[in-house]
Amino acid sequence: MNIHLKTDEEVELLREANLIIGKTLAELAKIIQPGVTTRQLDVLAETVIRDNGAEPTFKGFPNPYGPVFPASICTSVNEQVVHGIPNDAPLKDGDIVSIDCGTRYKGFCGDSCYTFAVGNISDEAKTLLKVTKEALYKGIEQAVAGRRIGDISYAVQTHCENHGYGVVREFVGHGVGHEMHEDPMVPNYGRRGNGVLLKSGMCIAIEPMITLGTKDVYLQDDKWSVVTRDSKLAAHFEHSICIRKGQADILSSFDEIEKVLKNQ
Ligand code: MG
Ligand code: MG
Repeated sequence: MNIHLKTDEEVELLREANLIIGKTLAELAKIIQPGVTTRQLDVLAETVIRDNGAEPTFKGFPNPYGPVFPASICTSVNEQVVHGIPNDAPLKDGDIVSIDCGTRYKGFCGDSCYTFAVGNISDEAKTLLKVTKEALYKGIEQAVAGRRIGDISYAVQTHCENHGYGVVREFVGHGVGHEMHEDPMVPNYGRRGNGVLLKSGMCIAIEPMITLGTKDVYLQDDKWSVVTRDSKLAAHFEHSICIRKGQADILSSFDEIEKVLKNQ
């Protein structure tokens, strides 16, 4: 394991990379509605990322099982959990869409994801989104120097399982820095007191991927999209954070996104 502790200067660059994601997702929030396609969202996302002087890290991302990732964002609709590829199918009223976005800015990688409602969604879907986002913040509360990765994992897992939801095992959070995926891994399941000791300067992405039904998932034929085995809904929220001065400093932000959503 090779964990790079970041200096304050590096943390600020990571924050800038992540704030560009917040801006990008806020622009997408303005146009997410029934009829819009995930391809349209991708085109806008790439424009906003590049206009802010960053590059989309997902575009061209290698895949051991098939072609490189072709787009600037992952758009995972309904039963898709992660890594959905933008396409020309219009979003429908009642869909949910997780938009995961990665940027590279001045050599540092931002990584953050938000799950959006399309039009009017069911109460069941609303609760899934609410609980998944709550789980993210419960994980972040544990991201304190002196605790361990397992404390984050346990907090996310218990909050979601207490609501009867599935916690996906195959995909996990991770360290962030010069690379989008660094050590350590940050699973959404685990035991308190287990795993890597958290230290000031560690930067990690915490990203619960939570399902309404089974936790089991499979890879679709496109070799990217991961979907729930029982075709029930999945939600995904992600923040990049840094541990310092005794607590978690959240580097990404949902503020601009939620300002847009509140005014709709
Ligand atoms: Mg991500
Ligand atoms: Mg991530």
